Amino acid sequence: MQQLYASWRMSYIEAPKHEGGCIFCDFPAEHKDEQRFIVHRGKTCFVIMNLYPYNPGHLMIIPYRHTNIYESLTDEEALEMHALTVKAVKVLKTVMTPAGFNIGMNLGEVAGAGVAGHLHRHIVPRWNGDNNFMPVLGDTRVLSDAIENSYRKIKEQWEKD
Ligand SMILES: [Zn+2]
Repeated sequence: MQQLYASWRMSYIEAPKHEGGCIFCDFPAEHKDEQRFIVHRGKTCFVIMNLYPYNPGHLMIIPYRHTNIYESLTDEEALEMHALTVKAVKVLKTVMTPAGFNIGMNLGEVAGAGVAGHLHRHIVPRWNGDNNFMPVLGDTRVLSDAIENSYRKIKEQWEKD
């Protein structure tokens, strides 16, 4: 197996550091979309792969605006979130042919939100047995490669659709 992995890739396997900042504000502001696995930038929301923990095809739709108050979403933000959710489902169906999806938001730490300060909608494709899609995840090199591959395929299809 090839072992030509740049060190920056490995760092994405580790959980992000919070230290006062907000990764969902920082990631789009960095303009390193490839390294951050940002799939699409909309007007009010962006689409990014969820890596912590990594699940094949797990995407998040996130408003650029830093808020954790669901009812504060403007109509424009809410409509774009919906439109991007629809597109994400279409793209994932084409690229990964899942048997189903979980779509939803966790509001507040008590509800399981990993980044509780900044709203985000999860799109999680599901398969029967769920482990068939990618047999080995124990090896970080395999994981890193799998993440890259999924990103390319999803992004390609997103731009085509
Ligand atoms: Zn934020």
